[in-house]
Amino acid sequence: MKVYNTLTRDKEEFKPLTGNTVRMYSCGPTVYNYAHIGNMRTYVFMDLLRRVLKFEGYKVKGVMNITDVGHLLSDADDGEDKMEKAAREQQKTPLEIAAHYTSVFFEDLKKLNIGKPELTPKATDHIQEMLDYVYTLCDNGYGYETSDGIYFDIGKCAEYGKLSGINLEDQQAGARVEVNSEKRHPADFAIWKKAPKEHIMQWDSKWGMGYPGWHIECSAMSKKYLGEEFDIHTGGVDHIPIHHENEIAQSVGATGKNPAKVWMHGEFMCVDGGKMSKKLGNTYTVSQLSDMGYSPMAFRYFCLNTHYRKKLNFTFPAMDGAKIAYERLGEALLRHKGANGTLAQEKLDAYMKEFTDYVTDDLNIPGALGTLWTMLKEAPSSAVYQAALKMDEVFGLQLAQIVPQVKEIEVPADVKELAERRYAAKKNKDWAAADALRAEITAKGYAVKDTKDGYTVEKL
Ligand code: AMP
Ligand code: ZN
Repeated sequence: MKVYNTLTRDKEEFKPLTGNTVRMYSCGPTVYNYAHIGNMRTYVFMDLLRRVLKFEGYKVKGVMNITDVGHLLSDADDGEDKMEKAAREQQKTPLEIAAHYTSVFFEDLKKLNIGKPELTPKATDHIQEMLDYVYTLCDNGYGYETSDGIYFDIGKCAEYGKLSGINLEDQQAGARVEVNSEKRHPADFAIWKKAPKEHIMQWDSKWGMGYPGWHIECSAMSKKYLGEEFDIHTGGVDHIPIHHENEIAQSVGATGKNPAKVWMHGEFMCVDGGKMSKKLGNTYTVSQLSDMGYSPMAFRYFCLNTHYRKKLNFTFPAMDGAKIAYERLGEALLRHKGANGTLAQEKLDAYMKEFTDYVTDDLNIPGALGTLWTMLKEAPSSAVYQAALKMDEVFGLQLAQIVPQVKEIEVPADVKELAERRYAAKKNKDWAAADALRAEITAKGYAVKDTKDGYTVEKL
């Protein structure tokens, strides 16, 4: 299996660091608002990766954090804590805000058939681990105190900027406005913030009351649950230049190691070419889409149709296209359900091989969908149906649950009755009666087709 590693900018052959288990960390949601479908695209990507790894026979130990403290309005260290702001605006406690949006987020995962990672730890449950991490960084000479917090000294980290290709000197020269003059470098970031009195969430530390920086939670929790070095770290591309760069710096400072062997990033979902984001107010949620008649599976299909490293522009005509394609896929699949025909084993094997080659080539899911469509064009056979369900272990499009919908409704009662009588005649081996009834059905503009378990009626 090959995956693209942002760190090396190369497609690499993947092998777990130890044994058959893939240890994987995915940056999770900040639970101050409803996750939008752009966020969900990143989790669909995470899910596809987990599914392909499992399809390849690996066990996956996945960790996805829930950020319920420390994520400030800017990904750098400016502005208010997002949780605190939401709590103030909605007159609730940060805990209530987090509980509500976390549960809706998990419901959305379920609706989109995204497998929940094995562990989903919350930042506020790991304050001690984060503080210990901050103390270690300070002991190792990477942390320094200013009047508003403890900062990471990126000047001590020779590899800083490697993930994103940032040149630190250029960045320093480009930083015209120095927000915090006590910082040694403009890109130094807070690992612990001193809490002003009015800050609701605060914990005791050797510097008095405070709260953790955003980046430290991922370092502390990934180390706790996956160890100092694990296999894969995922997130959206917006994490590359700050959040993940900082996570790497923290790990180097605390353990001397880059925490993940492979760093993988999902591209943005865009609107009119720009990022879909809550700040811009151009977002939709999974529920809003459902209310507009786009099922979660139609949205999943929409995501699957574009490679995770390409931008995906969200438009309603494109969503309409995905909705129709998903319905057609269901129809194409149902032709094969319970069908009597067969397909040569070599042909089936060739389809499965093509499918596997695609999905193991840095998750080429659009290519694999192409294979599924081609296979479904074969003459009706249960073998094709079974192969499609096997492929769906990766797609996660809930193909086994697809049932004939429109067609059954369209069949009038008298035709249904004729079909029932024909079926009964056939069971009684009264072939003449069965044939006569079939002719009557055909005359009314319908076709009856025999299947393994019964029959179907379709409009001619
Ligand atoms: P947040 O809840 O803001 O921390 O973001 C959750 C996840 O969604 C992160 O992995 C982000 O990288 C990702 N993300 C945010 N906006 C988009 C977008 N427009 N398209 C795809 N992923 C996004
Ligand atoms: Zn993270």
